[in-house]
Amino acid sequence: MAKVSFETERCKGCGLCVDACPRHLLVLSAKINKKGHPAAEITDQEACVGCAMCAAMCPDCVITVER
Ligand code: SF4
Ligand code: SF4
Repeated sequence: MAKVSFETERCKGCGLCVDACPRHLLVLSAKINKKGHPAAEITDQEACVGCAMCAAMCPDCVITVER
């Protein structure tokens, strides 16, 4: 199973990763980080196929995919 992790405090809430995930697993959180942005998070870690499209899309290298 792949594992997706976020450096939440660096996320700027742009939503590019949300649009990039072919399985629609990412959302912008209701929680606001210290920079004042809604941070991206994964809704269903077990459904992740580890394609790393989300990590490739993030302009700020917030996302790490391990598989
Ligand atoms: S690795 Fe692929 S399937 Fe998993 S959250 Fe990122 S874009 Fe979605
Ligand atoms: S693409 Fe990166 S900066 Fe933008 S919402 Fe996703 S994790 Fe945050």
